[in-house]
Order: sequence, then C-alpha cells, then structure tokens
Amino acid sequence: MQIKQPFRAYLATKDDSGDTHAEIVPRNLSDLPQGDVTIQVAYSSLNYKDALSATGVYGVTRNYPHVPGIDAAGIVARSENSDFQPGDRVLVTGYDLGADTDGGYEEYIRVPADWVVPLPLDLSLKQGMILGTAGFTAAIGINAALENNLKPSAGEVVVTGATGGVGSIAVALLAKEKFQVVAVTGKADAVDFLKFLGASRVIGREELNDQSNKPLLKMVWAGGMDTVGGNTLSTLVRSTRNHGVISACGVVAGAELNLTVYPFILRGVRLIGVDSAQWPKEPRWKIWRRLAHEWKIEQLEDIATTIQLEQLPEYIEKILQGKIRGRVVVEINGELE
Ligand code: NDP
Repeated sequence: MQIKQPFRAYLATKDDSGDTHAEIVPRNLSDLPQGDVTIQVAYSSLNYKDALSATGVYGVTRNYPHVPGIDAAGIVARSENSDFQPGDRVLVTGYDLGADTDGGYEEYIRVPADWVVPLPLDLSLKQGMILGTAGFTAAIGINAALENNLKPSAGEVVVTGATGGVGSIAVALLAKEKFQVVAVTGKADAVDFLKFLGASRVIGREELNDQSNKPLLKMVWAGGMDTVGGNTLSTLVRSTRNHGVISACGVVAGAELNLTVYPFILRGVRLIGVDSAQWPKEPRWKIWRRLAHEWKIEQLEDIATTIQLEQLPEYIEKILQGKIRGRVVVEINGELE
C-alpha cells in the first residue's frame, strides 16, 4: 500500500517552563515508534485522558514531544505480523497508545500487533471510534457487573457523569439490558438527551453528593456505573442496597474515596475497578464483537460530534471543563473503505 509522506500530526511539546503547546506538523514514517503493524488512521476520538496528555497534566505522558490520541481506527498499511494484512480494517484502544506511544492524532500509527483488534464487520471505522475507549470501558464495566450477578429485578441502577463519553454509552448499554437507569448529570438541559439514550429518570449531581460523612446511607440503588469518582462514588457506595454491584472507572470529581468498610462487610456491596487500557487480547476481541452485535447501540451516530485536527484545542478545553455531550470523533483521513 502506497504511503503518502509527509503526513499530518497533532504534536504536543513542553517548553522549559513546563508549559505545553500543540501544533499540526508534517511527519514521516521514520518519526513513528517501533512496532509490527502500521495503520493508516481514518478516525480517532477525544477522551478525558487525551485532554490530560495533550495539556501536559502529570501522570499520563512522561515524554514530549508527543502525539496524543488513545484511540485509532483505520486500515493496515504494512504488517510484519501474519495475523494482519494490508487492507484489514482494525482499531486500537488503550495499551500505551497516546500515553507514551505516539497516538491516533496522526495520519499513520505504528504499534505492536498485540494491540490491534480486527474491526467487527458490523461496525464502520467511524462507529468504532464513536465507541472507542469510552465504549469499551462502559462495556467492560457493565459486563463485570452482570458477571457479578447484577440483575434488572434488583432495582434502579445509576450512571454518573451520564452525558460524558463513558456515561452516555453506559446509559444506552444498561437500558439495552433492560435496567431502570437513573442518569446523574450536572447539565440541566440534558434530560431529553439522556432519555433518548434510555434513561428512565434523570437527577442532578447534587442528589448523589452526601456531605454527612455517615458510613451508611438509606439503601436506594442496586448499583451502577460510576465515571466520576470522589464524593459521588462514596455516596453511591454508601447508598447501595445489599449485594449491589458498582463498576467504577473515573476521577473527574476526584481521586480520593472517603469510605468505611461497612458498605462492603454489612451490605455485601461489590465495587469493581475498571481498567480498560491493559485488557488482554482474547476477552478484548470478545467485547468488541459484542459491541458490534447484541450490544450495538442504535443511537450511536446521534451521540457523535465529528471534528478536525484543527478543532482539538477547543474540544480539549471543553472536555476538561466537563462540557462534552456524548462522544467526539476526530476525523483524520476520513472514510478509507
Ligand atoms: P467525559 O468528559 O466525556 O465525561 C465525564 C463527565 O463527568 C462529564 O461529561 C460530566 O457529565 C461529568 N463531570 C465532569 N466534571 C465533573 C465533576 N467535577 N463532578 C461530577 N461530574 C463531573 O470523560 P470520559 O467519559 O472520557 O471519561 C470519564 C472518566 O472515566 C475520566 O475520569 C476518565 O479518565 C475515566 N476513564 C477511565 C478509564 C479506565 O479504563 N479506567 C477509561 C476511560 C475513561 P455530566 O455533566 O453529565 O455530569
């Protein structure tokens, strides 16, 4: 496959004072990291972690200059691994992509073959990126809750950060599994959006933000998916019913978790941590096939905003302020099929 060089990349650099700047620069294949599979990127996406990487926040990316983008979907251009051939439709989410390995905000990426997932036939490249890390994370969180016996008959489940990337997909997947989903949001005007995704009720953030410090609160929820952490997660754990199940993945409201052991030892509440980046290959492929079939979300295209590389600074600012609704897809080469 012919590779056009130079190609465009969104490169973040850090100056001596620690400030981060980003610009679109020309790059060549020789600038890409080592790996067995070179992929022409059709689309990437914007996740909260990308905003942290692009703005130099401590703990995500150690080495700059760096191309962010923890997600990429595209076509294999070159492969030194027999599992993948030029022309294959693939996606990569997580592992070290966009963290310390140059990521999807670039026309080509080069990665180890173990990171590459064959794109299921029933997903377009763009749909793969509307889902992206957010969809995969929502799916593994809900899958874990189901495996821990969370059932619709147990009562209402909560999704926090409900209009965000992980949150909006979690609402849709739980509704698909016939749960009564209560969407928790800070956006007063998001009720129609969340009901369209399948929420049965929408409540404000303040309703899940108990300040009493009581170790146990009135039992209300069967469990749910928390994407924000902090006192929201603490409140959710303390107000979950006997044997309820909560999957937790996020930190936007804080990394501290103020709890006692009582919800766990008196009510048998299960709190499951979700780490999407390092999920092993076989179960990863299985979850992606599920997202393409029985968990295919009918509203997927409706929750996506498509932007160009040039618009990244504006949208990075928005996601840092919690102002995104649904998923942001970054068009890199556009449709290649
Ligand atoms: P988004 O920004 O798309 O969504 C986060 C949502 O949280 C916002 O839209 C907003 O929703 C809500 N929110 C924002 N700020 C606050 C706040 N201060 N207090 C309470 N709620 C807030 O991010 P993503 O969906 O990409 O990621 C969500 C979280 O999950 C992040 O912390 C991210 O790092 C983490 N994550 C973890 C993964 C893992 O593998 N562990 C994988 C993917 C994401 P609303 O206005 O509706 O309340």
